[in-house]
Order: sequence, then C-alpha cells, then structure tokens
Amino acid sequence: KKYIDESSERKQLYNEVIELKGNIRVFCRCRPLNQAEIANGSSSVVEFDSSLENELQIVSSDSSKKQFKYDHVFKPEDSQEAVFAQTKPIVTSVLDGYNVCIFAYGQTGTGKTFTMEGPPENRGVNYRTLEELFRNSKERNGVMRYELLVSMLEVYNEKIRDLLVDSNQPSKKLEIKQAAEGTQEVPGLTEAHVYGTEEVWELLKSGGRARSVGSTNANELSSRSHCLLRVTVKGENLINGQKTRSHLWLVDLAGSERVGKIEVEGERLKESQFINKSLSALGDVISALATKSGHIPYRNSKLTHMLQSSLGGDCKTLMFVQISPSSADLGETICSLNFASRVRGIESGPARKQA
Ligand code: ADP
Repeated sequence: KKYIDESSERKQLYNEVIELKGNIRVFCRCRPLNQAEIANGSSSVVEFDSSLENELQIVSSDSSKKQFKYDHVFKPEDSQEAVFAQTKPIVTSVLDGYNVCIFAYGQTGTGKTFTMEGPPENRGVNYRTLEELFRNSKERNGVMRYELLVSMLEVYNEKIRDLLVDSNQPSKKLEIKQAAEGTQEVPGLTEAHVYGTEEVWELLKSGGRARSVGSTNANELSSRSHCLLRVTVKGENLINGQKTRSHLWLVDLAGSERVGKIEVEGERLKESQFINKSLSALGDVISALATKSGHIPYRNSKLTHMLQSSLGGDCKTLMFVQISPSSADLGETICSLNFASRVRGIESGPARKQA
C-alpha cells in the first residue's frame, strides 16, 4: 500500500515535470582547467553566474560573450554527488517501467568517462545508478520483485561488439533485429544477472578491459568508439501480477572533435567519418523528438537504430554535454554547445544577450 501510494505520487510528480519540460533534458558540465593548462597560463573562457544554475557564457577572443542555457549547468567544482543528485530521478524511473537513455557527449578529454564511469575513488553516474537501483528495489521488497541484468557493448565503425564475452572467446559480431512487438533486439548479446554493486563494479572493469583488446592505445580507441552499458529491469508487481521490462542505457559517446581531412587518411579518416555520421544521426533524432517532428530518422546509424525503442514516446533522455574551459578548445566548445542547444530544440537567435 505504502509503495503504491509512493509510486503513484512519484509518477504524478514526474508527469508534472514532463509537462513543463518534456522528456528530453540537457545538462552541461565543464571540467576544471588541468595542470598542463594552468602551467602554460591558459585561462578559462567559460563564465558562470553564481545565482543561475542553468546558464553559462563563453568569452571569445575578441571579448564578446555568448550565452547558453540548458536544464542544468555544472561548474568545474561541482562534485560527482551533485551531478548524480540531478540525474537520480531520471535513472530511477526505469524501475517504474520507463525506458531511459543517458548520453555523455563532447570533445575527447572533456570528462565524458569521468562523468559516466569516474575513477574508483570518485565514481560516476554508472555505478551510482546501479547502487541506487539496488537500494530502491530492496525498499520495494514484498511489493515488487525486480531482476537486474547488465550488458556492455561497443559500437566502433558501425560494428557492434559484446564487451562481456570471455576474453578467451573470439569476439562476436552482433546485429540489430526487429522483434515481433516492434522493439529492437540484439540477439546473442550477453546479459549478466546482477545482485549487488560490487559484482557490477567487477563486471564494468572486465568490460572496460575487453574494450581495449586488439588496440595498441586503449585511450585512443575508447575515444573513437561509443561504449554502452545497458541495464534491463524486469519488474513484477506482487499485488496485481503486472510485469514490466524496461531498459536503461548509459552511453559514453565517441569524441565529437572534428578531424581535418588533410590531417588524417586511411583507417583514421574512415573512423572519423563513422563517428561524425553517428553523432549527427543522434543529434537529428533527439532534435526531431524535441521539436515533435513527424519523422524520426532512427535508421541512419547503428546507435540510433539500436536505441530506437528507448528514445521517444514516454522514454526519458538526458544528454550531458561535456566542455573544456580552456581557450585552446574554444572552437570545439562552441560546436558542442551549439549541438546541445540544437538537440534540446533551442535555436540560437536574437534572444541571446550579446554583452
Ligand atoms: P573524455 O572521456 O571526454 O575523453 P576523461 O573523462 O578521460 O575525458 O577526462 C579527461 C581528464 O580530465 C581525466 O584525467 C579526468 O580525470 C579529468 N576530469 C574530467 N572531468 C573532471 C572533473 N569534473 N573534475 C576533475 N577532473 C576531471
């Protein structure tokens, strides 16, 4: 009874928020200047207004300022806890049967992996989410029975790879299949039952290791592939017998930096074309959803096709746009911020203050 009241209260609250803001959120997070940047005297081109939690300004080399607004803006000093506090209501809605996608977007080196994965002593969204899901499902014990399954995969050059296969086994090439009920499945993808956070942590570590198999430079490769963690939640209401199955996707995207055609050729050029294509396909899908456009172009990339049933409808989407404060990255930062404004359905225009 208590659970049902709480659950309907939460749903009502959620629906009120959705009516106000829609199902798509964009959070911007700016990393601190790093040691090298401080040493070479770089200054920050990002300004925050301490009284406004959803705005930032970019100072260009000619001192002109451009303002950007999102659902929330995280400053360099904001902690992993503070970031998760804003993320929690979205991720936990998977327990109520909603499909959820969380993305980290941005130039390589801006903190995508820091936000999603985080260092062991300062864990990010992925681990905190699973911790919260376990805690919440325990609290609902006796009313709901939950089963949690975890998959980990990588999309590299439009190929999908299972990251939870035993490293002695040859890696499987996976394809997307349309299931009878109109959802997208990836047959053969490993799904591991998980019962506690330590187990998940071990699994994430082994998935991370699998990611770098066959590459000479793990860091480099990870910036050129999309890494997806999928949590499948199977719920059963013990009072009315109702069953739910929903997906939560936690996605660390490939670096969004543009690579000049002149600088690269061969393999590297092919990679960057695949990345550009899939990131713009993702941007097109989310902005079509945000502006309630009739046609949603899911089929333009493996990433959007695979996530089709978790993007749109009453699914929740959150994108972290990660930026660097350094003047050396100004061009890429502006590109990322414009991308973020576009996916949120906010057009840049005269409404922006030009100081
Ligand atoms: P990306 O995944 O976008 O390539 P990383 O997550 O690897 O970037 O971050 C690059 C570096 O910056 C790492 O050393 C990381 O620890 C550091 N870093 C990123 N964001 C933060 C932050 N908010 N606070 C402290 N250090 C950060």
